[in-house]
Amino acid sequence: MKATRKEYIDQSMPCMITDLKTIISCVSVWDPDTVSAEAPFGSGPAKALRMVLAMAEKMGFTTRNFNGYAGDITLGTGKKMTGILAHIDVVAAETGWNTDPFDAVIKDGNIYGRGTSDDKGPVISCLYAMKYIRDNDLLPEDASIRMIIGADEEENLQCIQYYTAHAERLPDQTFIPDAYFPLVNSEKGLVDFDSAFHFVSPDHADAFVKRFTAGNARNIVPAYACCEIEPVAECRENVLSKLFAVPSLKIREDGKSILIEAHGRGAHAMTPENGENAAGLLLCGLKTSGVTFSMQPFIDAYTEKIGMEFNGEHLSCCWHDDISGVLTMNFGKMDLQDNIIQMKANVRYPISYTHDDLNASFVKNLTEAGFTYTEVLSMEPMYIPDDSDFIQTLMNAYREVTGDTEHMPFSIGGATYARFLPNSVSFGPLFPYETELAHEANECLSLESFAKMTEIYILALERLLSL
Ligand SMILES: [Zn+2]
Repeated sequence: MKATRKEYIDQSMPCMITDLKTIISCVSVWDPDTVSAEAPFGSGPAKALRMVLAMAEKMGFTTRNFNGYAGDITLGTGKKMTGILAHIDVVAAETGWNTDPFDAVIKDGNIYGRGTSDDKGPVISCLYAMKYIRDNDLLPEDASIRMIIGADEEENLQCIQYYTAHAERLPDQTFIPDAYFPLVNSEKGLVDFDSAFHFVSPDHADAFVKRFTAGNARNIVPAYACCEIEPVAECRENVLSKLFAVPSLKIREDGKSILIEAHGRGAHAMTPENGENAAGLLLCGLKTSGVTFSMQPFIDAYTEKIGMEFNGEHLSCCWHDDISGVLTMNFGKMDLQDNIIQMKANVRYPISYTHDDLNASFVKNLTEAGFTYTEVLSMEPMYIPDDSDFIQTLMNAYREVTGDTEHMPFSIGGATYARFLPNSVSFGPLFPYETELAHEANECLSLESFAKMTEIYILALERLLSL
């Protein structure tokens, strides 16, 4: 007898948890030091991709590995193809974890670990949703389901670009379990860029900066920043007393050197208001101290044009619209190399603005302030109307399982790769009543949500297959 969706999920949950724990244990963080021909984003992401494809193969699905960039898992051979797009890479686990982020544990009904909600939990959930369709013969002959799994969503999104360039075809419609329920049908424009600031040290600096570093990735608000300085001998006491007077800085003496640290709060770059940029805190603190540093021109320019701002006020691009909200930006990683500060950053702009608008003001003002600008990735804003069949079908599956008729499709800061595939929208996994923990310390997924999202994905697949 055919198991109901709920019964199936109850029976499958122990295996789902085991599989999730297994892939969480693989540290699939982008790592340039271990890049190779089969591992374009480092050994971790490549290994995690192989692990998921092996799980899918064991379940009886057809899989392909696109040279470590991405993979796909297919059920059926019918022409009408429904897609699922997810990713297996995760962001680094910064400070603040109460448990080992790569050894998932269950506590009080939640499973804690890096990737539980973004996006390994949803990968497992969708895999078991596909299995339900297969086990219960719910796939029409003319249809197929293909889950595409990227290995570089968090860094440069090369995974999906490689996939779209090499796959023989793309799904007709795709949902992406990598954002929020009920559904995201509008995403801001997104530009990732690298920036450098070349400076000439002032002749009479009080302190030489030996090291300055902040953050780990462009799409996370840095939780920690530090710099190591060596004051000119006769200025040492004066420098120390000025630094100690700044409450946001932590000062430690280490032989001749002085270590200056700032602790902020990590957050996803699309919601920078939830975080506090430690790089900004540190640089503003250095500026306030009144000490003159060897990288002073950078400190001056950064605090004047950016400082603690994330809406571009001093870059004259405080834009907003009613559908998608305000422009946001994040400087997520900074490092000093000789007389250059290297930065990784991104900016997300409302759907009523264009990439040309961005060039005409944001980029212009940034470069005029002495920052170089090298675009790494650009995605124009996207919008799919609420009344399309695809959106309606997904919304109905969500409503039927949750009973929530209040929440409507909405807009986010362009963090998903919905725009690389035709007719694609973000659909889950975070429920409206849940707190966003993706990219933060103690990321977790409630087991109840794990079950509920799986039920929604099963129902959505059933309905999409018969569209
Ligand atoms: Zn994600």
